[in-house]
Amino acid sequence: MATVKEQSFEQLEMKREVYHLIINGKRVNSENGETFTTYNPATGEAIATVAKASKEDAEKAVLAARNAFDFGKWRHFPVNKRSRVLNKIASIMRARFNELVELEILDSGKSLSAAQGQVMQAIEDFEFYAGAIVGHRGVVNNVPGAFHNYTEKEPVGVCAQIIPWNYPLMMAAWKVAPAIAVGCSVVVKPATLTPLTAILLGEICIEAGVPEGVVNIIPGAGSEVGNYLVEHEKVDKVAFTGSTPIGKNIMERASKTLKRVTLELGGKSPNIVFNDADVDAAVDGSLFGIFYNTGQSCEARSRLYVHEDIYDEFIEKFTLKTKKLVLGNPLNKETHVGAIISRDQLEVIDGYVKSAIEDGATIVTGGKEAKLDGLENGHWYEPTIITNVNHDMKAVREEIFGPVVVVMKFSDEKEVIKLANDSEFGLGSAIWTKDHGRATRVANQIQAGIVMVNCPFSAFPGTPFGGYKQSGFGRELCIETLDLYTETKSIISYYGSRPLNPFGV
Ligand code: NAD
Ligand code: MN
Repeated sequence: MATVKEQSFEQLEMKREVYHLIINGKRVNSENGETFTTYNPATGEAIATVAKASKEDAEKAVLAARNAFDFGKWRHFPVNKRSRVLNKIASIMRARFNELVELEILDSGKSLSAAQGQVMQAIEDFEFYAGAIVGHRGVVNNVPGAFHNYTEKEPVGVCAQIIPWNYPLMMAAWKVAPAIAVGCSVVVKPATLTPLTAILLGEICIEAGVPEGVVNIIPGAGSEVGNYLVEHEKVDKVAFTGSTPIGKNIMERASKTLKRVTLELGGKSPNIVFNDADVDAAVDGSLFGIFYNTGQSCEARSRLYVHEDIYDEFIEKFTLKTKKLVLGNPLNKETHVGAIISRDQLEVIDGYVKSAIEDGATIVTGGKEAKLDGLENGHWYEPTIITNVNHDMKAVREEIFGPVVVVMKFSDEKEVIKLANDSEFGLGSAIWTKDHGRATRVANQIQAGIVMVNCPFSAFPGTPFGGYKQSGFGRELCIETLDLYTETKSIISYYGSRPLNPFGV
């Protein structure tokens, strides 16, 4: 993997001072000329000015996307030609890998290794769908009688794609790649906290040969631009990644025009360590499971259940390693844990920790804002372990979305399955055990879209990603996603020699 030269923020030259909306294949200012500033969460410094989309820009983007879909050539390209363009997008991203990594770090405060992995995965998503689309076909059915039935997969149309701030480029890739692979047009709304890499992705798509209007990028407020897209009658589908309350609101609004909806929402994923686990591997995996991406991860394993036989040993080792985690300049490769995205989010996290303390929980380590030399204006939170908790506590039931894990003790398999499933969410889950039978049994009973067995990783191109219950529905990152961006058309054709006369009149 290519590496970014280590450097301080002062030395790092911003690629550009102003970023524009991408509408109809062009960089444009917003109609009303409004802009906003995006900040570096690690330093608190402003890094760029960004054109701020309003309803007028959303309207322009939807019309551009509609026009490209209804009258343009993209969806009619032979599939291998679309595939070639997707591969071209990936190759431009590879060539600009360092720039994308740097921008992602600056805009989101995530650590170098996290940003590298995510940018690489975004690239591989385009490569995956460049291949997958070639094999995405309808079927031929054997219908009794002289009937030939075949199905065609047709692009669903104009898709609004709403992106969160925690994986700004990767989530955009998860959505844009499958949608344009099948021939849809997209209007992408990045989060205003982290708009830069999605804008670059839009520019790269155009450079790679995606025709004008097929990919539009319009950062703006969710309450204005997001809502407008969700209610627009010329938008056929909404794909949303974000919090559960907003996902519910979107589904309700989208129902007015019966849009296709896919929702990737919040989580509170259980991480279960049995007494027959390799304790050291479970410690390392659990550490990554919660503190990767500063805990700002939908599939963060934030509820840790440890068997009573190994509880003390586990907690001791887990605490020791948590204390070893390095917070600091995200551009340094030694940094494990990056910044919290914003002051507001930091306060939300701290509020959860305080609520746990009020509820009688114990803070084993962390539990407060971290102050870092030279990065005093950034947003930092100490990796936090909380014990003495139960399922009535807010910190155990709700998604904290920060570097905070709650730990509980259990004594048997049935009990822990019940506890793991006692949540409104159902996104990720992890099991640590050497017993293959147990792993299979528990995996089978967990109500979650993803089960990791002796493994801390949850997302690879080709691997279905998505939730059960209130973590949403629809799967991304996989072949099935292509179906979620297409309509199936069934064509029934009679080939008999005698004319049909069903009424017999
Ligand atoms: P959020 O719900 O606040 O915002 C997500 C996006 O929706 C942003 O672009 C925002 O501007 C937009 N938005 C806000 N209000 C809107 C509205 N009324 N209509 C349309 N769009 C609107 O979430 P966030 O804080 O940016 O991201 C964190 C959340 O995302 C967490 O809950 C996390 O679990 C979830 N998440 C889920 C996954 C997954 O795959 N399941 C992945 C990443 C993040
Ligand atoms: Mn930012």
